Amino acid sequence: MATPLSGYRGRIQTLYSAAQLAERVAALGAEITRDYTGKSLVLLCVLKGSFVFAADLARAIELPLRVEFLGVASYGDDSESSGVVQITQDLTRPVEGEDVLVVEDIVDTGLTLSYLLEVLGARGPASLKVCALLHKPARERKHVRIDYLGFTIEDRFVVGYGLDWAQRYRNLPEIGVVTDGEEG
Ligand code: 5GP
Repeated sequence: MATPLSGYRGRIQTLYSAAQLAERVAALGAEITRDYTGKSLVLLCVLKGSFVFAADLARAIELPLRVEFLGVASYGDDSESSGVVQITQDLTRPVEGEDVLVVEDIVDTGLTLSYLLEVLGARGPASLKVCALLHKPARERKHVRIDYLGFTIEDRFVVGYGLDWAQRYRNLPEIGVVTDGEEG
C-alpha cells in the first residue's frame, strides 16, 4: 500500500536498516566506553553528515563526555571530495590536553579526515582518534587510521542516517543506496 513516505523513499534501497545501525552503534559505544574510562573524552562531531551518528553514539557511551561540533565544507561537487576543506564552524572550547574522538559519517578518499586530523593535532589534544560509521576503501587516496569503524562498504553512493544527497535524505533512519537518477 502506498504511504506518504513511499515517494520519498522510493529511489532508495536499504543497505543497513535502523535496527542494524542501532546494534552496531551500541557495540561501538561499549568499546569506546571501555577504552576511555578515566579519560577526558571529547566527541567531535563533524558537520553536517555526522550529526545523527554522533547523537546516537554519544548516548551509547556511558561516560561524562563533552561534545563539540566542527563544521566543514568540501569544495567540489557533492559526490566527489576535492580534499580542499573549509572550516565553516569552529569548536566552542579548546581541546588541548583532552582525549578527542573525531566522529565521521564516512571515510571515502580520506582527504577530508587527513586534513582535519592535521588541523586538530596542532591544537594539542592528549590523544586524537577516529570513529567512522562507514569506510569505502576502494576510493582511498590518503590513508587514515580509523580506530573505531561501523561498516566497510563497496564503492556506492549512500544516503540517510545523516548522509545527504544534494542536502536531502539526511533524515532517513536507515542507510541506503540511490537506485536511479544522478547522484549529487
Ligand atoms: P573524503 O574526503 O573521505 O573523500 O570524503 C568525506 C566526505 O565526503 C564525507 O564526510 C561525506 O560528506 C562525503 N561523502 C563521501 N562518500 C559519500 C557517500 O557515499 N554519500 C554521501 N552522502 N556523502 C559522501
